[in-house]
Amino acid sequence: MARLESRHNVVIKGIGVSPGIVSGRAYLLDDMDVPVPYLHLHSASHIADEIKRFKKAIGEAKTELLDIRKAMSEEKGLEPLFIIDAHIMMLKDASLIQSTIENIESRKINAEWALMLTIEKYRKAFSKIEDLYLKQRISDVEYVGQRILRSLSETKREPITEIKGDVIIIARDLSPADTVQMKIGRVLGFATEIGGKTSHTAIVARSIGIPAVVGLERITHEIHNDDYIIVDGCDGIVLINPDPEIIKRYEDKSRHFRELEEDLLKEASQPAITLDGRRIDISANVEFIEEIPSALIHGAEGVGLYRTEFLYINKERLPTEREHYNNYKHLLEGKGLAWSTIRTFDLGGDKFISDPRLAKELTKETNPVMGLRAIRFCLQEIELFKIQLRAILRASVHGKTRILFPMISCLEEILEAKRVLEEVKRELTLEHIPFAADIEIGIMIEVPSAVLIADRLAQEVDFFSIGTNDLIQYALAIDRVNERVTYLYEPLHPAVLRLIKMIVTAAHKAGIRVSMCGEMAGEPAYTLILVGLELDELSMNPMAIPRVKKIIRRAKSTESKALVKKIMTLSCAADIEEYVKKYMVRRFPDVFAKEEDQNCSIS
Ligand code: PEP
Ligand code: MG
Repeated sequence: MARLESRHNVVIKGIGVSPGIVSGRAYLLDDMDVPVPYLHLHSASHIADEIKRFKKAIGEAKTELLDIRKAMSEEKGLEPLFIIDAHIMMLKDASLIQSTIENIESRKINAEWALMLTIEKYRKAFSKIEDLYLKQRISDVEYVGQRILRSLSETKREPITEIKGDVIIIARDLSPADTVQMKIGRVLGFATEIGGKTSHTAIVARSIGIPAVVGLERITHEIHNDDYIIVDGCDGIVLINPDPEIIKRYEDKSRHFRELEEDLLKEASQPAITLDGRRIDISANVEFIEEIPSALIHGAEGVGLYRTEFLYINKERLPTEREHYNNYKHLLEGKGLAWSTIRTFDLGGDKFISDPRLAKELTKETNPVMGLRAIRFCLQEIELFKIQLRAILRASVHGKTRILFPMISCLEEILEAKRVLEEVKRELTLEHIPFAADIEIGIMIEVPSAVLIADRLAQEVDFFSIGTNDLIQYALAIDRVNERVTYLYEPLHPAVLRLIKMIVTAAHKAGIRVSMCGEMAGEPAYTLILVGLELDELSMNPMAIPRVKKIIRRAKSTESKALVKKIMTLSCAADIEEYVKKYMVRRFPDVFAKEEDQNCSIS
């Protein structure tokens, strides 16, 4: 194809998935995609050879991934990421291998074509999943497929660790394994055509702190090697060959961003105590153990929500008690975490599990979010529930443990969950297996009925954790994943504020503590309100922690109460939102940089 002339001052808008601004030389990584030939096999011996070739390619792909994993484990401060392990596991996936071999045999076709048919089957199955996070896991299957195809075609993508000089990588798609290598190499940032906020590639980029923009249509056609580009991961923008004056503006913006981040990180380990002495515990929401080092750097004091359902998802089989135990032990032993809140599995609804019997149990309810999920599913699958509880109890000797039960909607559910927990404790005692005596028990308050009986529920537990993601959805009747009603998903709806107030009042009256672990807790614009509503702990995405702490440390508890009093007199979410945003920008100008200061676009 004829090379097009480099263009100047081109701006492409995508999705910023890892904040920060970098500029430099573009480096186009060749496409992961390799041509897929079609061949018809005419004899039994050709078929046997093809199966052998396919198995050899799997072995080679596995060796490559093991090499990457080894290189990563030798890099100080970078633990082998779960994603590489997941990809290695996928290469052992019996159904992926078997289905491809069956295609070779029954259709008499070559391994490449047979593998593509298998991946297509997976693609169809994943497309039916509603949960965006899980839907995007098809990219992992595709990465693994591409690796096998590369081995089959005997072509190799150059290792990112060997790229010379500081570059910004441009690619159609990147695997999480590629992203991890950026930590070892000298990559400044990356921009890709494919991806979303919750893709593993994005998760890794955030955890290793490399600015990234994804979802940039045709970016690999727009950019040439050695073009000068700017990647703005904050606003999700890529600029190609910008004029010197634009470069200067972005240099200023980048410096400003870095200074702010450095500034925020300097203070991040300080406790969140208001000027008049009220302390709020600040913790992190984590989905994977590998996020913990970054959570600590960002100032997490504990883990406020460990979403254990990710131990079950995308796995060929259910996790064993030992696997659960090792995972929780790793979490609880982590230095620097004062406590870890392990939520029992919140499977069901829109969260996929691969075990065929359980998948059948869970799938295709007319309204799954209101169906068999979370604690309802735990209590129906008692044996599965007990395996997890045993593992948590056994691991509890390694660090301060809190157990959190999701989606409690009535008293009977917590009584039953506690009964099962006691049964497991008795069994462990009989087996002389130790567990901690001071494990705290909490429930997620995320269903309106739980708010209304919070005074009664508070008698049964040591703490509440407010799951605003679900509470807002159930209280306002807004499906949290339906983009057509997102405009109604209002954390500052007066009804939501009243619900939070009711929960805190009931909890404090009963002498128990309240945490908030929904996304609302990590929104700096809401921090003062949450202080005013007297939350005891805020648990959030680690990147949000420094800003939230900074606000708390510069605020007074009395001021936050006055703000809450004022907004409680307003009747509409929009009015409250406007009032609060204006207040916060005026009050904390260095945290909420003005829009016009940030606007560096060319137009
Ligand atoms: C919530 O509902 O706010 C919550 C934290 O749980 P999840 O997002 O996992 O449903
Ligand atoms: Mg929830």
